[in-house]
Amino acid sequence: MVQDAGFFIGGKWTNPRDRKRFETINPATGEVLATFPLGTKEDVNAAVRAAKGAFEKWKKTPAPRRGELLLEAAKIFRNRKEELGRIVTMEMGKVIAEGRGDVQEAIDFFEYASGEGRRFFGQTVPSELPDKMCFTIRLPVGPVALVTPWNFPIAIPSWKSGAALISGCTVVFKPSSLTPLCGAKFAEVLEEAGFPPGVFNFLVGPGSTAGDALIRHPDIRAISFTGGVDTGKQVYKAAAERMIKAGLELGGKNPILVMDDADLDLLMDGVMFGAFGTTGQRCTATSRLIVHRVVYDDLLDRLVKRTEKLKVGDPLDPKTDMGPVASADQERKTLEYVGIGRKEGDKLLTGGEKLRGGAYDRGFFVEPTVFEVKANKRLAMEEIFGPVLSVIRVKDYDEAVAVANSVEYGLSSSIYTNDVRRAFAAMQDLEAGITYINAPTIGAEVQMPFGGIKSTGPTDTREAGPTAVEEFTYVKTVYVDYSGRLQRAQIDTAKFTG
Ligand code: NAD
Repeated sequence: MVQDAGFFIGGKWTNPRDRKRFETINPATGEVLATFPLGTKEDVNAAVRAAKGAFEKWKKTPAPRRGELLLEAAKIFRNRKEELGRIVTMEMGKVIAEGRGDVQEAIDFFEYASGEGRRFFGQTVPSELPDKMCFTIRLPVGPVALVTPWNFPIAIPSWKSGAALISGCTVVFKPSSLTPLCGAKFAEVLEEAGFPPGVFNFLVGPGSTAGDALIRHPDIRAISFTGGVDTGKQVYKAAAERMIKAGLELGGKNPILVMDDADLDLLMDGVMFGAFGTTGQRCTATSRLIVHRVVYDDLLDRLVKRTEKLKVGDPLDPKTDMGPVASADQERKTLEYVGIGRKEGDKLLTGGEKLRGGAYDRGFFVEPTVFEVKANKRLAMEEIFGPVLSVIRVKDYDEAVAVANSVEYGLSSSIYTNDVRRAFAAMQDLEAGITYINAPTIGAEVQMPFGGIKSTGPTDTREAGPTAVEEFTYVKTVYVDYSGRLQRAQIDTAKFTG
């Protein structure tokens, strides 16, 4: 099915022939899915020019009208869900139910964001002076850059662009070079929905050149970035140089705390989904299981048995539990961490190998892996972003919280307990942007804010939910004095005479 794809700039598809091209491949089969031109600084300049040119008109389009186009996009995503879900699975390797889920998130978020067009609320505030009104309005910041990773190739772009577009911003979108086909399909849906030319632009290219040119472009007024911490820091610095907003969603090392009263059957279902869903390549993946000593041995036994039952293979087969990792690089990195665990003396309980033979030889398949580790080891502290779970034994709740909070990240967290006091204590005690009670660390819903603390990203932006538009807007304060005379705040202080 090799497609010869290009960029979407200023409402037109372009496919520059004078460029080197790169291939996007299916990580389960090695099959080439599409080729793309390598985007350059000139392409970035053209895309930003288009976004800048379209901005004033889009800004002045009433927000409820903007919402109608988002709703139209949601309908198209719904109609094309199966087709797009299969492309997600083929391009990044998550199992087909999750591929469809990726698209469902776009449907959900575009529907949600379209309604935000009718809820673009400001505040009305009393003035300290008579015959005077104070209120705030929200305005779009301008053309924005959206830079995304490969693990949710439809969902993450939908969160970012849905919020940016309803806010009245125009967009230049650059996805990861591992999932450009999903990016192009995403742009196709927005084109079909009828967004005016230049409002949404799409290109692909290396992060170090095209991505870098995009985040540093002087006409870009906000950057929304999801990816690794090191790249995130570069984006943050580039934004600081120009005093523009940067929404950053970076890594995670998400724990589930298992208390002595936990329902272990419920827990096991949650751990399998949390640790091995998306082949462990979620920013919110459960990568640490911090377990109370009382249930530790029982849990280890069940955990190994359940993990060994997981069926790894063709992600398009609905019976498959876990697909390949997304790339050769992801495979190398995952196996490298297995090596680190072995070298540091962590106990490998199951997995740890590349799967070989038959269809496995064509793709990047790694066994679901469980290690028993000490809390201060690299496997317990660093983001692996693959199907590797570290289990850590603790003596009580306090130690569990201390271990949970000992890493640099703070995205998602969870506790399994039937003690309501512990559950409520954990909501306060866990250093993370998200806490689940009796559910795994994954499973965000679009109407709720999403984001982390510590190295996961600055706390001043939250994607999704009612906070989503804050990333792309600023608050303007308006004073209306209808007294017909000069009134001086703080100076003409009226006395109460009644
Ligand atoms: P990455 O940081 O390598 O790349 C992310 C994006 O940034 C890509 O589009 C890439 O081309 C671009 N990029 C790379 N260098 C750049 C530069 N110098 N300037 C501008 N852009 C540049 O991340 P990845 O490997 O694609 O994704 C994996 C990472 O993403 C993991 O660390 C994971 O935790 C994180 N992630 C976080 C969340 C979240 O919401 N917190 C969600 C998904 C993934």
